[in-house]
Amino acid sequence: MSPWPDSWYRHSSPPGAAAAAMAGDITCDVCVVGAGYTGLSAALTLAERGYDVAVVEAEQVGWGASGRNGGQLISGYNKSVSAIARMSGPDDARRLWALAEEAKALLVGRVERHGIACDLRWGYIYAAARPRHRAGLLTQLRDAEALGYDRLRLLEGADLRALMASPRYGSGLEDGGSGHLHPLAYAQGLARAARAAGARLYENTPALAIDTGAAPTVTTPRGRVRARFLVLAGNAYLGDLAPPLARTLVPIVTYMLATVPLGAERATALLPADHAVSDTNAGLHYFRRSRDHRLLFGGGVNFANRSTADARPKLTRALVHCFPQLAGVGVDHFWHGSVGMTVSRLPQLGRLSPTAYFAHGYSGHGVALTGICGQLLAEAISGQAERFDVFARLPHRSFVGSPWRVPLLRLASLWYRLRDLL
Ligand SMILES: Cc1cc2nc3c(=O)[nH]c(=O)nc-3n(C[C@H](O)[C@H](O)[C@H](O)COP(=O)(O)OP(=O)(O)OC[C@H]3O[C@@H](n4cnc5c(N)ncnc54)[C@H](O)[C@@H]3O)c2cc1C
Repeated sequence: MSPWPDSWYRHSSPPGAAAAAMAGDITCDVCVVGAGYTGLSAALTLAERGYDVAVVEAEQVGWGASGRNGGQLISGYNKSVSAIARMSGPDDARRLWALAEEAKALLVGRVERHGIACDLRWGYIYAAARPRHRAGLLTQLRDAEALGYDRLRLLEGADLRALMASPRYGSGLEDGGSGHLHPLAYAQGLARAARAAGARLYENTPALAIDTGAAPTVTTPRGRVRARFLVLAGNAYLGDLAPPLARTLVPIVTYMLATVPLGAERATALLPADHAVSDTNAGLHYFRRSRDHRLLFGGGVNFANRSTADARPKLTRALVHCFPQLAGVGVDHFWHGSVGMTVSRLPQLGRLSPTAYFAHGYSGHGVALTGICGQLLAEAISGQAERFDVFARLPHRSFVGSPWRVPLLRLASLWYRLRDLL
């Protein structure tokens, strides 16, 4: 069992009801590997449709990215709709946008229906980290308007600073249809809903090996699962369990900190209307207020997928660069996690075989997209794959393999840092 990260989330959310580890062999219709948002969403939808579902989780619910992320519920993808249209045509780009919108509605519906207390709030700003990034914001605004989405507005100068007391940003795109939530509480709520719908959950049960043939099996330390279908939902934490998937995904480390409680007045002055913010740099920074009046601040990506000793002081310096009024502020919690990044920066959904399905690689947009992608996995297993195939036909390009992978990723990291600086 690996330790939990020292995240503010872990300290501010009561532990979910623990599930026992699997002991002995079992059979089920669908075995889901991984109890993050993707696996839990697939399990919930399948259980609601009457499937016998078993979820095996190597650690505990939400231990992966789902329990330690920035909590930002963001419209669309980590790529503009016009860029998606250039890659996959205007019709699929429109379908993908509609699915991303449905993702937010699905999340809200589940939070309401299952009474998930996860502090869901609305309001988000995509802030231009450089003056030249303003053009990208305008592209996004035009794309959204062309799709009939009218929740965006461009903010500049004093209008922006009225919502975000940072001298670092000159313009930003406010999105009233994006927001933020407590990520671990949301994961635990999904797990409760899936179990209430009949899914069996086994924590501390790593899948050690899988067979994706006609009679799929999952081998765990104390028993084997025999299923009709497998869902692989380990994302950036799946490792080499399915080598073809590992080649199409790069796990990238990003860091977060939680300041000491600032008091209601000081915290509110930073983000008066309680927006979540992320910026346009490749090594982006993202932040928001917590309900106990801290600033939760993240960023500092590490493309070589390892944490480094200087990450904490670097992130603290970045915090003060954004908010000079926080110079010298105490930091109570610091943690990191892995984001699953794809070459296209779009999620990848697909089949390893007729019985083994996967979804991963949300590239920093998983809080919203995982819910719908989990549902699409369930739809495909139920025999309705039209919407699943909109994602499945996106190109799944591989990253370069060993021994060049790590040196090249370091080089990429340097290149992006240089680009952010210029
Ligand atoms: C620090 C950080 C900040 C982020 N901020 C944001 C944000 O603000 N907004 C946003 O939209 N996205 C954000 N993301 C990304 C988002 O968190 C992810 O896209 C999303 O949580 C992915 O969910 P998942 O269920 O696919 O994967 P995970 O939540 O990572 O779940 C995978 C699970 O599978 C389990 N597992 C892996 N291998 C095995 C195995 N062999 N056997 C059994 N279990 C296994 C793991 O233990 C893990 O619990 C952030 C990510 C990080 C790390």
